[in-house]
Amino acid sequence: MNNWKTKNGYEITQVLSGRSNTYLVLKDRLVILIDTGKESAFRKLSKNIDSLGLSLDKITHLILTHTHFDHCQLAKKIKDNSLCEIFVSCIAEDSIKNGYTELPKGTTYITRIISGLGRLIGKNKFGYAPFKPDVFIHEDHVLKIADNRIKIIKTSGHSDDSISILIDDEIAIVGDVMFGVLKNSIFPPYADSTNDLIKSWGKLLNTTCNVFLPGHGKEIKIELLKKEYDKYARKHNTKYPLGNSKRDILQH
Ligand SMILES: [Zn+2]
Repeated sequence: MNNWKTKNGYEITQVLSGRSNTYLVLKDRLVILIDTGKESAFRKLSKNIDSLGLSLDKITHLILTHTHFDHCQLAKKIKDNSLCEIFVSCIAEDSIKNGYTELPKGTTYITRIISGLGRLIGKNKFGYAPFKPDVFIHEDHVLKIADNRIKIIKTSGHSDDSISILIDDEIAIVGDVMFGVLKNSIFPPYADSTNDLIKSWGKLLNTTCNVFLPGHGKEIKIELLKKEYDKYARKHNTKYPLGNSKRDILQH
């Protein structure tokens, strides 16, 4: 399993990979799961968490980068098996009650067709068990856990309810706001708003993070994010006001 460690000792382990990535963040007594993967991944997820000397019932927090089925289908099961608090964007409130978040639009000819077909099928295949969130994220903020070095920022574009989690100002876990499957591109095959997506990339560039962990594929380095941001911002005439320093966001 891939593993990252920050200067202040936050440990991130990729506990699911393949169809959807899931990350476990450990610090002192905190066991934070970021995204759950699909229902079919339950055994693999439990086994991988067990192999770290932990277990599902030890999860203290579950943060969902967004509520597409492949990221949250196990949320209810994990909540039922632990005392974890679930953090999710307030925008997802109605979808969560309904157990279905509409699939995102395609960004290419092929993915537009796939998305259209998927939307016709809808909840039956792409739904999830409704669950009860504990904290709805309304604004960018610092979590009052551990030594206050976990931040959540809104990064819409792939979906309206997309958020990113900044760990120790070094590593950002970004869900589907970036796509890590291709070598030289991070542009996701599905996104509800390309303009918002580009602005969210700019917002992430304004943090001090250098490594970005996506919901699908491999880690993305800041150099590639910068290159892609410049390219797409020019192409779509969209920009996020980049500051003089990369330390603009949530540093005060
Ligand atoms: Zn998604």
